[in-house]
Amino acid sequence: MKTTFTASCLYTPTEEIPHPLLMVEDGRITEIASRSGKEVPGNAVLVDFGDAVLAPGFLDIHMHGGAGLDVMQAAPSDMPRLGQFLATHGVVGYFPTTVTASLDATCAALERLADAIEAEETRGATNGGPVQAQALGIHLEGPFLSHKRRGVHPPDLLVAPTVEVFERFWQAARGHVSMMTIAPELPGAMEVIAEAARRHVLVSIGHSDADMATAQNAVNAGARHATHTFNAMRPLDHRDPGILGEVLGDDRLSAEIIADGIHVSPPVVKLFLRAKGIERAVLITDSISATGMPDGRYQLGPIQVDVKDGTCTSNGSLAGSVLTLDRAVRNVTQFGCWSLKDAVRAATLNPARAVGLSGNRGVLACGAEADFNVLTRTGEVVKTIVRGRGF
Ligand SMILES: [Zn+2]
Repeated sequence: MKTTFTASCLYTPTEEIPHPLLMVEDGRITEIASRSGKEVPGNAVLVDFGDAVLAPGFLDIHMHGGAGLDVMQAAPSDMPRLGQFLATHGVVGYFPTTVTASLDATCAALERLADAIEAEETRGATNGGPVQAQALGIHLEGPFLSHKRRGVHPPDLLVAPTVEVFERFWQAARGHVSMMTIAPELPGAMEVIAEAARRHVLVSIGHSDADMATAQNAVNAGARHATHTFNAMRPLDHRDPGILGEVLGDDRLSAEIIADGIHVSPPVVKLFLRAKGIERAVLITDSISATGMPDGRYQLGPIQVDVKDGTCTSNGSLAGSVLTLDRAVRNVTQFGCWSLKDAVRAATLNPARAVGLSGNRGVLACGAEADFNVLTRTGEVVKTIVRGRGF
């Protein structure tokens, strides 16, 4: 089926096209043009979203759950429910993220997640059922983390990085590990960073107490990203900058931020956005199963988390968030005074580039997946279209 979508403007997201025509066939974008220079094709259905904005669907590369489901516990048959919840917040693709657990529990979770990813690849081809975000790959957040900066990750389950343990995870996940967070100062870390990078895993430095030289060595070994900048990281000292000096100053690194106004204060989010700029800032949620649910007690992998008034804690430490990515985008327009177009870019093209998917995801371009959001001018999600469906 051919469908043509129009609205008041479209973000690619590097460019803004006024009065756009977005043409879709068999779930892919076949053409993008401006109405002024192009007739609506006579054989296509025209869907007009009036004064709304068309923008790529959001990608969340760091999330642990939502809608009551924890990605380490959920059965593959439950994952579509999580995907449907995410789509209501504009997310079209996500990277289920593990937390530190026992090696056996981690491997069991990785196998289930690999099952879910492969099931969705198959389902995608059949094009049926309700619109939902797709799990695209796995983000391994533990267990190669610093004891000092572990946050709520269980201390007795942290493990020194070795290629052998990484290989065990890789096999359990059947190669679906797309991202790995690692503290570069741990003995053995550089070898694991180099090996993961060689397998095209996005290596992200974080949960770390590293000094600046060690962080630089990690980047030289292949690290290209930073995990929830400022959180679970040695703080910036102006005479001893540490890992943050490297994360904020090195253009080889993209970097995540949890823009909920709780994990990082809004003025510091603004500083971060200036440092990493519109090309390298990546919005994530770090959301847990409680997202979209009432206050109460929830699981984050093996960790019990109490959620009250939008704050998630475990024994007094912050433990993930209940942030949604559409909210993060809107927050960035306020905290950083960024345009909606630039804020959208930090939740679409930038994460796609970081994980190596920028050809056909996170952008509206000819040949890309027809996964897009219909947004109000202030960034509220009106509709989420996945593979040309859902309008
Ligand atoms: Zn996390």
